[in-house]
Amino acid sequence: MKYLNERKQIVEFGKKLVTERLTTGTGGNISIFIREDNIMLISPSGIPYTETLPEDIVIMDLNGNVLEGSKKPSSEYAMHAIFYKQTDNINSVVHTHSDYATAISCLHQDIEPLHYIIGSVGDRVRCSNYRTFGSSELATEAFKTMRDNNGILLGNHGVLAVGPDCAEAFSVAKDIEFLAKLKVHSGALGKPVLLNDEDMAVVKEKFKTYGQQ
Ligand SMILES: [Zn+2]
Repeated sequence: MKYLNERKQIVEFGKKLVTERLTTGTGGNISIFIREDNIMLISPSGIPYTETLPEDIVIMDLNGNVLEGSKKPSSEYAMHAIFYKQTDNINSVVHTHSDYATAISCLHQDIEPLHYIIGSVGDRVRCSNYRTFGSSELATEAFKTMRDNNGILLGNHGVLAVGPDCAEAFSVAKDIEFLAKLKVHSGALGKPVLLNDEDMAVVKEKFKTYGQQ
């Protein structure tokens, strides 16, 4: 089967979405871009992650046409494709509806730099405006909000994380849920002390090499 490794990665990280409690049921989706062939592999719509098989992964072009696969692709394919079309370094997109991050997205609040782990995402986790799920308007809004960060909150919806590969995009989605949880819990106890610009400059510098040794 062509792209077997990438298919297996989507299946494996889909299962991790459930075991790491980043989603329940069929919420969220994962894709991988094969740059040399200009195609993307994406999780199918409506199949539980625990039951998804490598052959269920759908192959699409970046205009939303299914090239291979008998299953319906995730309804959010446009929100994945826009990052592959518009950037030359993003090769995987992970979308979740994780609990704490989605709760904050309903307030249209950003997650401020309250813990150094935010360095894996950017200077802060921005929240986009609300757009209808599965629409090209949502894709455009998500892309506009991301700028040069690795993850955002989607207003009244969830989380979008991007990376050079699936492991890194997944890791960012997980970090965003951790940061969201910290914002909720620390905010319940008082007013969190935020990292200042100087602290964040050091953190961002360190994150350039973090995890790559
Ligand atoms: Zn969604």
